[in-house]
Amino acid sequence: MINIRNLHKSFGDKEILKGIDLNVPKGEATFIIGPSGSGKTTLLRCMNLLEIPNEGTISIGNNTLEFKTNKKNIQNDILKLRKSTGMVFQGFHLFPHMTVIQNIMEGPVTVLKQSKDDARAKAITLLQKVGLSEKSNSYPHELSGGQQQRVAIARAMAMEPSVLLFDEPTSALDPELEAEVLKVMRDLSHEGMTMVVVTHKMSFAKEVANNVIFMDDGIIVESGTPQKLFTNTTNSRLKQFLSLVE
Ligand code: ATP
Repeated sequence: MINIRNLHKSFGDKEILKGIDLNVPKGEATFIIGPSGSGKTTLLRCMNLLEIPNEGTISIGNNTLEFKTNKKNIQNDILKLRKSTGMVFQGFHLFPHMTVIQNIMEGPVTVLKQSKDDARAKAITLLQKVGLSEKSNSYPHELSGGQQQRVAIARAMAMEPSVLLFDEPTSALDPELEAEVLKVMRDLSHEGMTMVVVTHKMSFAKEVANNVIFMDDGIIVESGTPQKLFTNTTNSRLKQFLSLVE
């Protein structure tokens, strides 16, 4: 589904991603773990072109984009690629002046040009899916953090992305609220949604991930099944990281 080759990203003269090769298979959940500052969020943001890589190739589905230092205008290609991903942020990022259902309908109506009736019907189904049917006319400030994040997931799903990207989606939440968001993510994964999740929650990664990527200092140090990374690894950097976070 997502194929990344030789991806480089610098901020100023600081190279953050130092040649990433990564394959995210369709229908699977890929989790990215690693120490703070290792480049996990930057990699995720490159997948949805919130950050523009300096070099490398990103393919999502049938769309491929090659990044070069002296690149021509690639704005249209960027928009095309961005449409195939949905992003869920740590801080929810809902539109504060819109109700829950308006938040979910906004993208489908303005970007996908769906009719309001179609977008509303879809939003209602998505709200049922995330367990928030009764909140459709509430405003974000009237919801708990966990509820806001579930709306954010429904909003991302409404754009019918090929892949959902989650950037530490529960790190701003208390454990009780975290559980309800993790349940929605678990359900999506069981339904075969292609997902990439940056997380510090190792227990959740162990439970849900099909593939785990361990990043350190801008490179992928190890990747494979949860069993391989969490139980059988011989890599000293990964072992040290796990001993600190578990
Ligand atoms: P964490 O687990 O703490 O969220 P991370 O592995 O997700 O960390 P990134 O957020 O990708 O790491 O950041 C990697 C490095 O890139 C950090 O040193 C950060 O300060 C730097 N960085 C990220 N975004 C920018 C930016 N827009 N401008 C300059 N430097 C940035």
